[in-house]
Amino acid sequence: MTKAAVVVAHNEPVEIREVELAGPKAGDIRIAVRASGVCHSDLSVQNGTVPFPPPPLVPGHECAGEVVEVGDGVSRFKVGDHVVYTVQPPVWPLLLPRARSGLSV
Ligand SMILES: [Zn+2]
Repeated sequence: MTKAAVVVAHNEPVEIREVELAGPKAGDIRIAVRASGVCHSDLSVQNGTVPFPPPPLVPGHECAGEVVEVGDGVSRFKVGDHVVYTVQPPVWPLLLPRARSGLSV
């Protein structure tokens, strides 16, 4: 269980709730989020201007944190890596040391 700010319905205040997270699937990583921005897109989902994904949902698709678990087949990340990411198509997780060195990931 972990705490999350949850949009429970459009145009309602977010609620701090305990949520259960599934482990990573093959090819996924699980990140302990240390910081997250809330941008206009998140507010548009919260107020229903953008109707998807439907509530309940946890906003915040621009985050930074630490890899705490990796799914089967993941070789580019390991537990303890610090990452920043945004969830947009395509999903672009950036491994900080690689980003600093100028390598694309
Ligand atoms: Zn955004």
